[in-house]
Amino acid sequence: MFEVDLVVYVNALFILMISSISSYIFIVHKLRNDNYPGFSLRYYNLYFIVGVIGWVGLWIKDSGLIKVDLASSVIAYLLVSSFLLLAVLEVSCKKWNDKVIAIIHGVGIILSLFLDDDFERLVYISLYTLLVYPVIAFLSFKLAHENNNIGNGIIGAAATLVVFLAPVQLYGILILGDFNFVYAVALVSNSTGFILVSIGFLASMLIAEHNQLTQLTFTDPLTGLFNRRGLDHAVALLLSSAKRNKNSVSAITMDLDFFKSINDTYGHDGGDFVLKEFSRELLHQARSSDACSRLGGEEFVIILPATKKANAMQVAERIRRSVEEKELNYGGKAIKITCSFGVSTLSTEIDMDYLLKQADKALYQAKADGRNRVCSSEY
Ligand code: GH3
Ligand code: MG
Ligand code: MG
Repeated sequence: MFEVDLVVYVNALFILMISSISSYIFIVHKLRNDNYPGFSLRYYNLYFIVGVIGWVGLWIKDSGLIKVDLASSVIAYLLVSSFLLLAVLEVSCKKWNDKVIAIIHGVGIILSLFLDDDFERLVYISLYTLLVYPVIAFLSFKLAHENNNIGNGIIGAAATLVVFLAPVQLYGILILGDFNFVYAVALVSNSTGFILVSIGFLASMLIAEHNQLTQLTFTDPLTGLFNRRGLDHAVALLLSSAKRNKNSVSAITMDLDFFKSINDTYGHDGGDFVLKEFSRELLHQARSSDACSRLGGEEFVIILPATKKANAMQVAERIRRSVEEKELNYGGKAIKITCSFGVSTLSTEIDMDYLLKQADKALYQAKADGRNRVCSSEY
């Protein structure tokens, strides 16, 4: 079996780190002009730039080209960690003051200059890691949970790994007194941490972008309700569970009464205001399992899974009454509106088109009977 010198492995590690982090710098620069929801390109950019400088410096030092101690590595480590902390903080809680973090790290860097030897520097780095990286891990996991974004979870895992290896480093320094062991643990911890943060960063961006596009594709920009495509998508999920559980599904279609005259009286903006207020009321009255959608103009529909006709009629009547009673305040002017409702229910062979057609027939009846009322289809 052929043997490879350890030096080759170490050089391969440095080449891997420097080339992969450099590619992330290019990615950030390419994406800089785009707006990513919940993303801090500014701090990740600095994180990767200082990171690559740090790894290049370490490589030069380890190649024996220049004789330096770990003082500059401590500074690079504190800078890189502060940018990661700032990146995560910026997304987590907007009101956090960046200057406080910058001052604390500035003081940390100045203090590190008074350390006597690499032994003390390694202890300093380990203690710093135990203080700061649990915060990064906690905030990243929280973000992953809140935004349903596994990328942040990977960043959290990277920070957790770094936290767990810090006591191992302290053990190596204080108990074993083995500098080589500590240095090896630091290399493993930082290289793995860096690669995981980079993967997490890229994954979070892709997922954030995907979520944003999905949001745009499936929602009506004026009201934030589902559009027709969003409704079809939501209903496909609802129906598969309704079929499994053999539950009935109801639909309530709605059309605002004399909406044209609202537009004529208060202008198109006044009409839009009414549509938004009406949608808010729908969301307020519906259950979280119901799918509320604006099909176009002043026409809306709610799909109610596991709901019998009598219950759907009650829901429609409740909405009708609350809309009728509400007085909308549009720039000091009071607007009163009413709405007509059609209800249909299917218990077997749930066909979405048929369900909506039946509800539309009932709505037509409600209009014909004088508006501001709820009618149901005979099925
Ligand atoms: P009916 O009681 O029979 O439903 O009468 P209506 O006036 O509500 O019905 P009609 O279908 O004649 O009028 C609907 C109006 O909705 C016409 C259109 O200008 C307006 N409209 C459609 N989309 C929008 C929108 O996005 N914003 C606003 N402000 N108005 C819209
Ligand atoms: Mg209409
Ligand atoms: Mg109308």
